[in-house]
Formats: sequence, structure tokens, C-alpha cells
Amino acid sequence: MSGAPYDVARVRADFPILATQVRGKRLAFLDTAASSQRPLAVLEAVDHYERTSHANVHRGVYQLSQKATDAFEGARERVRRFLNASSTREIIFTRGTTESINLVAQSWGRRLGPGDEILITWMEHHANIVPWQMLCERSGATLKVAPITLRGELDLEAFEALISPRTKLVACTQIANALGTVLPLERMIAAAKRVGALTLVDGAQAVSHQRVDLRALDCDFYAFSSHKLYGPTGLGVLYARESVLREMPPWQGGGDMILTVSFTRTTYAELPYRFEAGTPHIAGAVGLAAAMDYLDGLGLERVQQHEQALLARATRALRAIPGLRIIGEAAHKAGVISFVLENVHPHDLGTILDDEGVAIRTGHHCAMPVMEFFDVPATARASFGCYSDDADVDQLAAALGRAREVFG
Ligand code: PMP
Repeated sequence: MSGAPYDVARVRADFPILATQVRGKRLAFLDTAASSQRPLAVLEAVDHYERTSHANVHRGVYQLSQKATDAFEGARERVRRFLNASSTREIIFTRGTTESINLVAQSWGRRLGPGDEILITWMEHHANIVPWQMLCERSGATLKVAPITLRGELDLEAFEALISPRTKLVACTQIANALGTVLPLERMIAAAKRVGALTLVDGAQAVSHQRVDLRALDCDFYAFSSHKLYGPTGLGVLYARESVLREMPPWQGGGDMILTVSFTRTTYAELPYRFEAGTPHIAGAVGLAAAMDYLDGLGLERVQQHEQALLARATRALRAIPGLRIIGEAAHKAGVISFVLENVHPHDLGTILDDEGVAIRTGHHCAMPVMEFFDVPATARASFGCYSDDADVDQLAAALGRAREVFG
């Protein structure tokens, strides 16, 4: 499709679930930030794998096992290429962003002790807070949190002031899931490097919305989930710089991660297998590779432009609704818009919108510190993907108008 104008109707036709009706109304699916839908290409790739190639990987010499291994390792190479990582040794399959971050906290984190610091930001998802809190409890290290502003942007000066030679890791999101803020990663990573700290980027909300080039970004760890990238659930990726990974102890023990096992001594497998104990989500990896092909076919830059246009349209429409307050008005935002409506609890709002066929997320978005900062119990959040269109935004605005009528 590259070259031609972005044809969202054609993109929508690739996603069978979007034809769903909700109580006789058109579905406006605006919860892509929680989990994206899958295109036919992904459903078919998984189905084809299951019908023709499934067996366990890395074990059998028989043909089917080799086919499955080729499919799985082919997916690893596809991920490497998608992220522009240097080597497949740096690509570890996990269950998702959450597990990827826990892997780093539990393996790399073992070297930390009292006096060491981990620096995160106030707008992290719980997945990039709690593993570090647990690590600090175990190790005696200290968790520092860089503040944000009322617009929902990182206070960069305060962030830089918190960095010191005690900082061993800066862990931050690329795009904040509850606010849509795009973080100034280049400056943050440069600041971390100046004191010799490692950097972990939570790419869960970014990797399917903008081109990610890990060699340009130059972080040490990068985590994301397949299900937010139009791929299957239950699968994620941890990228880790090879030189860092080599120094990390294995975390989960079991099959596939060893070279030899005896009761006197066990030796571990090469990278990346040392970090992949047990049978992996093979069909999931095949689906993720297909999702990456699909997105590259659309052209990530064009998808990003399309989502930015939807964000502008939605921001305009929502600002015109009396009593509506947008939470998170950073200058640089992705296709996520969080808001509260005067006198209406976000959960009630979610229910009314559902009656109108509009699927949005309501709650704390696994970012309770953000809710606390903005002094709201929860927000409603609409988020866009490659298949979102103007009609979705207009349906949202009309449904919000109805909600205002109901709650006066
Ligand atoms: N980080 C961010 C920024 C997220 O948006 C999410 C998912 N909402 C996660 C981490 C956790 O992802 P998962 O549940 O797929 O592990």
C-alpha cells in the first residue's frame, strides 16, 4: 500500500472483528491501547502454522519439529529486523511487557545493593513500577521518581537533577499509557549514559505507533507486548544489549535454557535461549511476525500520521464538550486521549458509551500514581490504532453529548 494515500476503509476490511454490532449499533473500538485487534493476515498465519507445522521447538530431529523451529526462529529474526537490533541473540521471547521488565529486575537487578538507585518517572504503568519496588525491597536499593507537570509532561530538569553516579538504571516508558505523552527519550538516555547508568524503555504503547530503531535509540533494554502490536496475546519481547545480557544470570530454570544438567553441575544454553525456560508460545511468535509484516506493509510512518490526525480531530471535538477535561495535554502526544466529564464517574460514562457502541477504557489504567497526581479516581480513555477512523471519533463525541444529556 506504500505510496498510495492511506486507505482506512481498506485497512478496516482486514480486521473482521470491526464488523461487530453492539446492540444493533456500529462498534467504535477505541481501546487499542489496552489491546489491539488482529488483522486476517495474523489470524491466517497462526491458523496455517497450527494446521501444517506445529510440534515442539529445538528438540526433535523429525521434520515437523524442524518446521516449527524454523517458524519460531524466523519470527525472532523478524522481530530483530523490525526493531533494527544487531543480533537475534538480543531478542528474548517472554509472556509480555510485564514479564520482560520482571526478567530484568530479577536477573540484572541481582547486582544492586544499598546505595544504588533506580530512576523511573511519575507516569509509568504499574508494570514499570512494582518490579522495581520489589527489587528495592530485596536489595536495599532506592527507587527515585522523576516528577511530571500539570500538562502531563516529564519535568526534564528535575529528571536530570535526580540522575547521579548512584543511578544504576533509568527505566521509563516511551509513551505514557494513561496520558498519551511521548517522552523525550533521546535526552533521557543521553543523561543516563553520562553517569554510566543503563536504560530500560517500556515500549508497550510505542512500538506499533512509531518506527522504533534500537540502534539509533541506543537503550540497553526494550520491552513490548505482541497483543498491542496487532499480534496474539500471551507473548512479548525483551530486547537486551548483548554485552549486558552476557553478564546477567539466568532467571527461570528449566528445559530449553540449559546445555547440560547433572546433580553436581548444570551449564546454561547460549543467548538468547538461556533466558527462555520451557516451551515458548510458538504460534504467538508466528502471529507476531505476521503482524510486523502487516504493519510494515501499511507503512508505520503513514499509520502514525493517520493516528495523529485522529488525535487532533478527537481533541478538537472533546474540547468543545462543556464540562469535559482532558487529562494530559503534552505538546508531543500519541493517539491516546484521557478525560473526565464533570458530575459523571468514568465507569458510568463507560457504560453509557457502551450503549452507543463505543468501546473505551475506564479506570486507573494501571497508572494509579498518575490518577493521584491529577487528583481523579479514574479517567475515561479513547485510543487509536491503524484501523481507527473519523466515524469512530464522531461516534465518541456524539455519545459523550448523550452522556451529558443523561447526567445534566
Ligand atoms: N507498559 C505500558 C506502558 C502499558 O501500556 C502496558 C499495558 N497496558 C504494559 C506495560 C503491560 O503490558 P502487558 O500487560 O501486555 O504485560
